[in-house]
Amino acid sequence: MSSKGVPSPIEHLGYHVGTDRKLADWPEIVEYFKKVAAVSPRVLVEEVGKTTEGNPFIYATVSSPENLGRLEELRQVQMRLSKPVGLGDAEAAELLEKGKTVVMISCSIHSTEVGGSQMSMELLHRLATEDGPDVREILDNVIFLFVPSLNPDGNRMVVDWYNRYLGTEYEGTSPPYVYHKYAGHDNNRDWYMFTLKETLLTVEHIHNRWHPQIVYDIHQMGSKGPRLYVPPFTDPYEPNVDPVLTSGVNLMGISMADALAREGKRGVATNWVFDAWTPARAYQHYHGGIRILSEAASVKIATPIEIKPEELKPDRGFNPKEARWNHPLPWKGGRWTLRDIIDYELTVAWTCLQTAAKFRNRWLRGTLDMGRRAVNPSGGPYAFVVPSKQRDPGAAAELLRVMRVGDVDVHVAVKPFTADGVEYPAGSHVILYAQPYGCFAKALLEKQVYPDLRDSPDQPPVVPYDVTAHTLSLQMGVDVAQANAAFEAELETVDAPTVPPGKVHGGGPFYAWSPVPNYSFKAVNRLLDEGHAVSRSLDELELDEGILKAGAFIVEAKKGVGKLLEGMAAELGLDFYSFERPLTDAFELRKPRVGVYRAWLPNADESWLRMVLEEYGFQYVNLYPEDVRAGGLAEKVDVLVFPDLTRDIVVNGMKGYRGMDAKAYELKYQRGVEEQGNKEVLRFLDAGGTVITLNRACEYAVKDLYAGAELPLAGLGEKEFYCPGSLLRVLVDDSHPVGYGYSREEAVMFQDSPAFNVKDGIAVALYPETDPTVSGWLLGEKHLRGRAAVAEIPAGNGTIILIGCSPHFRNQNRATFKLLFNSIYYGVA
Ligand SMILES: [Zn+2]
Repeated sequence: MSSKGVPSPIEHLGYHVGTDRKLADWPEIVEYFKKVAAVSPRVLVEEVGKTTEGNPFIYATVSSPENLGRLEELRQVQMRLSKPVGLGDAEAAELLEKGKTVVMISCSIHSTEVGGSQMSMELLHRLATEDGPDVREILDNVIFLFVPSLNPDGNRMVVDWYNRYLGTEYEGTSPPYVYHKYAGHDNNRDWYMFTLKETLLTVEHIHNRWHPQIVYDIHQMGSKGPRLYVPPFTDPYEPNVDPVLTSGVNLMGISMADALAREGKRGVATNWVFDAWTPARAYQHYHGGIRILSEAASVKIATPIEIKPEELKPDRGFNPKEARWNHPLPWKGGRWTLRDIIDYELTVAWTCLQTAAKFRNRWLRGTLDMGRRAVNPSGGPYAFVVPSKQRDPGAAAELLRVMRVGDVDVHVAVKPFTADGVEYPAGSHVILYAQPYGCFAKALLEKQVYPDLRDSPDQPPVVPYDVTAHTLSLQMGVDVAQANAAFEAELETVDAPTVPPGKVHGGGPFYAWSPVPNYSFKAVNRLLDEGHAVSRSLDELELDEGILKAGAFIVEAKKGVGKLLEGMAAELGLDFYSFERPLTDAFELRKPRVGVYRAWLPNADESWLRMVLEEYGFQYVNLYPEDVRAGGLAEKVDVLVFPDLTRDIVVNGMKGYRGMDAKAYELKYQRGVEEQGNKEVLRFLDAGGTVITLNRACEYAVKDLYAGAELPLAGLGEKEFYCPGSLLRVLVDDSHPVGYGYSREEAVMFQDSPAFNVKDGIAVALYPETDPTVSGWLLGEKHLRGRAAVAEIPAGNGTIILIGCSPHFRNQNRATFKLLFNSIYYGVA
């Protein structure tokens, strides 16, 4: 082993990693990794693709030169142990002997949490240059996959912002915008829908190629609590996580906390706040790997802070001043720096690799045992069936794609079959539970029953860390059946599911297509872009081939339309039907000019909204608070959308948001729409504009735009009403233009959501007179009974659409996209 010629970070950067007020930018980190790989026989670096904004996405593989020399062979060992279908004991014993623990460490997915990426250079340098028994043990026993940033775009944004204000009175703040173009802080909630390029690159090139036993993701949190958090997690664990992973998380987390305590590093807490429920944050928990998370107390990006002892505050059942079994050595306050964060993280990362190396047999054995349990489960369903006949075939194909990206085997039946007494036609898809990652499929396809962890109903709810429901069939509007008894079917494997092609039926003079599939809206936008007139039918359309629901789209078969439709039928799986009757009962659409309100703070919901609008071909402009205050809105847009934001933030800007210290920003960034902006929005409505408010922003519509509705949930305490991200049943009026294309019964994602008593307007979707919970957790269901979830409210010459959920929630809740799209079209009807 040679360490000759490996540059140190200080030689590369000109300063010590973690020096106050110094941050390495992404190109400098990439260059350092490449320099080390060029000279060290222990390090390989690969660029696997480009990020959302075109930056290189890299990872390093670190191990002994001997291991790196037979890396593909070792990978095959890992794959065989992970998927032990038909693996005998003798071969298994050989593989256990030969295999290495595979560890992935990823840094700074949340880009203001800068410590991880900065630390990465020092960890790489140690592994490339040290020669003690410690390092040898790690290099011989571990294949270490090292991702210096899961969000390189954000690293660049944060470094630019930090340097812009360095040395000014505004030094050390977070950018007042999202640090991932389409996801912001939610970029670590994408681990089952796989919509972001960075998620896909990580899953396809690292997770699925290696299925690491250990995945450690480096984060930071607020400054006034413990100095560092590591697992054990708190309850609840999602029930499909293998118990060996739960115990592995505990083993690893306690090893880390122990190492920090032995080094005298104070303020380390375990078993606090962070749970293990949603798969959105934990791909590895369904793919044979433990999830480790460290959360260090932040500084002001790279600017040190001083914390007085009295500023250390109890938070969610934890007092940072008290010694406890899960916090044996409290920190006493004082100076806290980026270098402190890096020192803690280096200890944690090093311990992670040591624990991986020392207990190599434990990790490999766990992989084999889990794999065997998965391919030969002792309980659970036999399969999930996705029937071939779907109301939204594009959504069904997307659901199957999620399974495939998640390394789940998907089959298609070549002949009709019967499962649990139900007959399914050929072309139906089958996902068998007995397979290596069957738990991933089951977690996403079944309904969640979130445990109420209170001792008695008099206590306040035990707050989950994230949403409690993730059932894909409900989120995507796909019909999925669970089959419990084993059945016979002739099955073929499907590698890359695609939407079955549709057809153009006949030759005009008009064509109509269904308002039900989401992709119908892609077709509308493409036709409008090409200058064709598209209308929506006010009633059901009776055609030779059957009936299309109200809101069916209609286009005249002018020159070029036929060819366009042919292409879209093939690509989007849509059927276009010829149609003779003159059009009397339809309204024409214009290409909508959409304005998306963008507050000066990182609002993930706004960024997801832009992503979905772009994917579906809607054109939009962002309107910032100063744009709204400047007025002239009717000249700029037809439809103004306020994404999920509190009323206080819309009106008062950053001053209305506890998450940021408004005074630390230039005045421009502090402000909301204010009274002046309200007047302009009211003027826009008077001029006939349409305002769509999503989720919490509906309070703004009611109180500041005088939408004729009451907010009956306002003021209810958590003990009376509580719903932390659940899928709830609503009844939709599909004869209303906002409800076009829906079935009577649908599910919405309810999180910090309002409900309405409509005073002056029309309810488009109502909660039923019964418990609406379909998946997740809801306390106080009686408060929702009969109340509206979606409503149209007249306002001046214009219209306000109240949508009491985030209809595009994290680009996951696709069944409610149409609420948004319909509302936009309604605004230009
Ligand atoms: Zn974080």
